[in-house]
Amino acid sequence: MLLGAIEGGGTKFVCGIGTADGEILDRISIPTTTPEATLGNAMDFFAAKEIQAIGIGTFGPIDVNPQSHAYGSVTKTPKPHWSGYRIVEHLKRYFDIPIGFDTDVNTAALGEATWGAAAGLNSCLYMTVGTGIGAGAIVEGRLVHGLTHPEMGHILIRRHPDDSYEGHCPFHKDCLEGLAAGPALEDRWGSKAFELGDTHSAWEIESYYIAQALVNYILILSPEKIIIGGGVMNQSHLFPLIREQVRKLLNGYVQHPAFSDDNDNYIVQPALGGNAGLCGALALAKQALDI
Ligand code: ADP
Ligand code: ZN
Repeated sequence: MLLGAIEGGGTKFVCGIGTADGEILDRISIPTTTPEATLGNAMDFFAAKEIQAIGIGTFGPIDVNPQSHAYGSVTKTPKPHWSGYRIVEHLKRYFDIPIGFDTDVNTAALGEATWGAAAGLNSCLYMTVGTGIGAGAIVEGRLVHGLTHPEMGHILIRRHPDDSYEGHCPFHKDCLEGLAAGPALEDRWGSKAFELGDTHSAWEIESYYIAQALVNYILILSPEKIIIGGGVMNQSHLFPLIREQVRKLLNGYVQHPAFSDDNDNYIVQPALGGNAGLCGALALAKQALDI
């Protein structure tokens, strides 16, 4: 059986064909322009392929409530052309098959929980630190939704004493995303994030912010595994810094081997690498088919 997968990002839409075992057989990357052109190109890719369901994980905010009249659409976004666009309705015009729809980070969390670092666990949290920051959570075996969907990248955190940068978030200025996403790093330090050397003080500050977010997620959700992806996390030296800061901030309050000094198996890189989103979309397609 073949399934369709779409990872919808602000700069590119990656479409794939895969199996119910999470194997990706074919893929294409389409630049994100207008919804009509982008989804039109995506539908051209899927045309004539014998897919039985499609899963789509997309940038948002989006309406993920199946009872809502706006289900399957992008809600209000600063991204030109996309506010209110009905993605699922567009896809249904071409394919009258089950369609799974969720946020990009929820989808990546589902991918890692199904075939990746959190396989076999009942809960996990997937965080991306890239152009923006977001996180998706699985609790008691299910993706977390609510009034809309969680927006864990915009939480409010304590400022690092050495950081006077005003913040980059257009809504909140110095929320987590405003202080720690890639564009904030570049704006604060005046150079590309990947050009800052490993010993730059940027990384101590960055790990302090990411660790605070993780501590909040740990205290609220108690995930069994934390997976961090996104462009900024290519700086893999951040992982030990983050683990250490998490231990410091928790200060022994949560007693679990996950937080012991030598545990580097709790806060980890995506086991699916760059495929977490696309594999997650396959898993969403499976859920839509109820298999
Ligand atoms: P997106 O979030 O748009 O899907 P990415 O996850 O690739 O895309 O994140 C892009 C951000 O990550 C940019 O702000 C970029 O500066 C940053 N980034 C990409 N590669 C690196 C790297 N090697 N080191 C540090 N930052 C990086
Ligand atoms: Zn914000």
